[in-house]
This record gives sequence, structure tokens and C-alpha cells, in this order.
Amino acid sequence: MAFTKNSKNSSVKQCFFCSQNLKEIDYKDPLLLKRFVSGQGKIVDPQHTATCSKHQRRLAQSIKRARYMGLLSFVKK
Ligand SMILES: [Zn+2]
Repeated sequence: MAFTKNSKNSSVKQCFFCSQNLKEIDYKDPLLLKRFVSGQGKIVDPQHTATCSKHQRRLAQSIKRARYMGLLSFVKK
């Protein structure tokens, strides 16, 4: 039998935006975006934050917009 995903497994993390029922990610909310940015100012690997691919794409776009608007830094000092 092939390995199947067990939905009862509590150790499986769910996407933060799916659990909060957020469809759009606001780039004008740096406190939220900072949770998905590493100490060096990089976007954290989705496998690490358990963000689904749909939200990861929107999150990356929002972080890039926030950087351009000066809400997030490109690199940490
Ligand atoms: Zn999601």
C-alpha cells in the first residue's frame, strides 16, 4: 500500500492564511509579513512555514510590494 496523508496527524501544520480564512494578503501590514521573513530579510521557505503554494505566491508578491513601499527592508543591518 502506498503512503497516504493522514488527516488525523496533529503534527501536520496548516497554512496560516488558510486557517485565518484570508484570501488577500495586505502588503500594508508589515507586522504580518515580518513573520514570513527571515532574520536576514529573506522570504522564508514555504516548507518551513507550512504556507500553501497559493498563499505563498501572494505572500511573496506582498512582501516585494512592501519592500518597494519601504515598509520592509531588503536586507537587515
Ligand atoms: Zn493557504
